Formats: sequence, structure tokens, C-alpha cells
Amino acid sequence: MAAKLTKLSNLTADYRARDAAHHIHAFSDMKALNAEGSRVIVRAEGSWIYDSDGNRILDGMAGLWCVNIGHGRKEIADAIQRQMADLSYYNTFFKTTHPPAIALSETLARLAPPQFNHVFYVGSGSEANDTVIRMVRHYWASLGKPGKSVIIARNNAYHGSTMGGASLGGMKSMHSQGGLPIPGIHHIAQPYWFGEGGDATPEEFGVQAARELEKAIEAIGEENIGAFIAEPIQGAGGVIIPPSTYWPEIARILKDREILLVADEVITGFGRTGNWFGSETFGIAADLMPIAKGLSSGYLPIGGVMVSDKVSDVLIGPGGEFHHGFTYGAHPVAAAAALENLRIIEDEKLVDRVRDDIGPYLQAGWKALGEHPLVGEARMTGLMGALELVPNKPSRQQKFPDTGKVGTIARDFSFKNGLVMRAVRDSLILSPPLTLSHDEADQLLAIAKTTLDDTYAEVKRLGLI
Ligand SMILES: *Cc1c(COP(=O)(O)O)cnc(C)c1O
Repeated sequence: MAAKLTKLSNLTADYRARDAAHHIHAFSDMKALNAEGSRVIVRAEGSWIYDSDGNRILDGMAGLWCVNIGHGRKEIADAIQRQMADLSYYNTFFKTTHPPAIALSETLARLAPPQFNHVFYVGSGSEANDTVIRMVRHYWASLGKPGKSVIIARNNAYHGSTMGGASLGGMKSMHSQGGLPIPGIHHIAQPYWFGEGGDATPEEFGVQAARELEKAIEAIGEENIGAFIAEPIQGAGGVIIPPSTYWPEIARILKDREILLVADEVITGFGRTGNWFGSETFGIAADLMPIAKGLSSGYLPIGGVMVSDKVSDVLIGPGGEFHHGFTYGAHPVAAAAALENLRIIEDEKLVDRVRDDIGPYLQAGWKALGEHPLVGEARMTGLMGALELVPNKPSRQQKFPDTGKVGTIARDFSFKNGLVMRAVRDSLILSPPLTLSHDEADQLLAIAKTTLDDTYAEVKRLGLI
């Protein structure tokens, strides 16, 4: 046994050295990471990932918000293999199509809210949002209103890492590199009551935050604005669940205005919030919906933009070319994987399961973590949640110094204790597979509790409380 462990850790050391030598990771301080060494994930099954030292870790983030059906499903591997054998690649640019693209489009039109009957395929969520920018501007230009080019987005939003996606996003750290945002993107406040709600109630603050859109429209002029884009629930921004008043007020503001509404469903789509789309959970009547992640549960990269009849009538009706497309858009093998993924979500009733069963079950345990002395708020909709860590509960106004330090300490404890959670500022966020069992939910909650206890002790030791 001892010999085996030594061999395993040599293996890990070897992986780490080779990784450090040649691989630049996304969103990582490479110097710090190389000094510490990456965790090497070698295998995954269901809700669990396994590292090269043989540790089994509960995947509380479903990969990166995407593995909705859990890891390692053989049905998907089989569907991929079958499609590979028939047609491993062809494009849909030049008057061609193929059966997986046809079947997936038909399925998406059936599952999406009724106004959506068309889809434009891309390779990722970022490409979907770049497509949104071009599609919105092309739509208004086609209607003889090329001046309607400004897109209003929100602070602390995440819409991807391409020039367009990161510009729509409201991450200051991303804008500080590479000359972003691109022109024509305007950011307004986010509906983040816990962090920015001041003395207002959540309901009051929801209305206030939404009215920032009205103010921006008045300042910029409706004749210059093409669209408003928002995530139904902000994911990477810290699982920011808007107050109940927010989306109805946005609907009131956009009613009778010529401004398209874009719901970025890259995380909230495909069951995450207890409906097929987050738009349904919040009553959002969107004109465009970028999708990716849960579309294929991450088995292969694929994304798309769901296009409402209002927009497709203008894009398709009068004729004329949309000069836009990606080599791997509607990739047949990725489309086959997505189709099989959607079949599994439907057949196993995973959306109902999130709404009526595992969702309420995990939410109850998660909300109970809100009793912990370190937790200022425990929130969760469907299977996406956050724990806000604060030094002086119940005050929301007082935060830890050096934002992010305590969150990172907690995140590291969680990983060590056997649960992947992610840190955003000083909060912990969670987004497990929709297939999570009750027993796994119990284990998840127990590890989260231990993690809070460990973090509390460490924060005390550091004199931060
Ligand atoms: C992840 C994400 C994206 C970007 O998707 P990629 O596939 O990483 O390019 C866009 N929007 C939201 C809401 C996301 O969470």
C-alpha cells in the first residue's frame, strides 16, 4: 500500500512538472499555481471526480456549471461514437445540412419557450454572445434603424471571454486587460441586494436596480439602443438571484419600447433553475437566448443562440445574408451529443426533479447553513446557490478586509474536505449536477458545514473576526 501511494504521488509530481512546463491555464496566476502545483483530475463518474492521488471529490460545480446529467454517461459516449462513424464533420455554410443539426434544432424549438423556433449554432457561450451583438445590430439595420447599436449590459455580469463576450460582461478585472469594453456597450447596476442593497428591502432594491435600465434608456436615447442583455441569475458574478421585483420591473420598462431583450441562458438553461430555462422561472419574455454549457452537459463543446419569431422574421423573411458563422457551428458530433443529453434530461425528468425533489431538498439544507456564524446569507434557486461569508453577522454592510481572501480560504478547505465549491469574492458558490442523489446532497451539506467550521477557526486564528 505504501509503495503504491509513493508511486501515485510520483505520478502526480510528474504530471505537475509537465503541466507547469507547457500549459497556460485560464483565469489563473500561473506563477502562484506552478509553485503550488495543479490538481490533476483523471476520471469522473456521476457527481464525483477523481484526482491522480486517488482522492474522490464531490463535484459541487458540475464541472464548470455544465455537467447537468453527471459525468461519464455511456449513452453519450455511444451517441458520439455512432455519429463519428456516420459523419464526423460537415459544415452548414453552403446550402448543406445534416441529420444531427436538423434533429437538435427541432428539439430545441420544442423545449424552448413558444416564441423560439430557430437556433443559430456556435461552439461556446462566448461565441453565442458575440453572435448576439452582431445579430442585434443586423436586426435593427435590416429594419432601417442602424443607429440602434448600443447594447446595455450589467456590472459584474459574465457573458464570456471573447472580445464581445467580455465587453458585454461587467467584470472590471477583465476590462482592465486587452482594451475592453469595445465601443457601444453600456453597463448598469446589478440586482445584488446582499452586496449593494444598502438599507432597502430586497423588494425595494429590485425595483431600484431595474430602474437603472430606465435611466440609461433616457440618457442614451431609445433610438440608439438595440438590446438589453442579462443573465436570469448571474452565475460567475456570484450566483446573484435577483429580488422578486426585478424582472417584472424590467418587463414594465421594456414594454412598448423598441429594445430587444437577451436572456443569457448559458448557465440557467436546461434545468438548472427547475425549469427548462431560467426565463420561465422568472417570467422573462426574451427575444434572444444564448445557450451552451448544459446544452451538451459539457460532453462536447457546442452553443447556440435561440432566435425568437420576432427576430427570425426580420433575419429570414426579407432574405439577404447574415455574414456570420463558425467552422464548428452545428458540428454533427457535438450536436449528436447534445441531442442525447437532452433525451436523458427529458427521459429522466431531471427538470421536474430539480423543481420538485432534489432542488427543494438541497435548498432546505443549504438555507440551514445560513445559521452558521460565518454565513450572512444562504441563497439557492433550483440547484444554484451561494453562501455569503461575513465577519459580523447579521450586518451586510461590514465585509472582510482584502476581499477574496476568506473566500479563497473557504474554497481551499472545501476542496480538501472533498467538495468542489468555487469562491467569488468572499462567498462560496455551488451548482451541482442535476442528477445529485439525496445521499450525495447529505454528504455535500456535511462537507460544506465542516468547511464553514474550518474556515471560521482559521479566520479567528488570523484575527479577522
Ligand atoms: C460560461 C458563460 C458564458 C461563456 O461560455 P463559454 O462556453 O465559456 O464561452 C457566457 N455566459 C454565461 C452566463 C456563462 O456562464
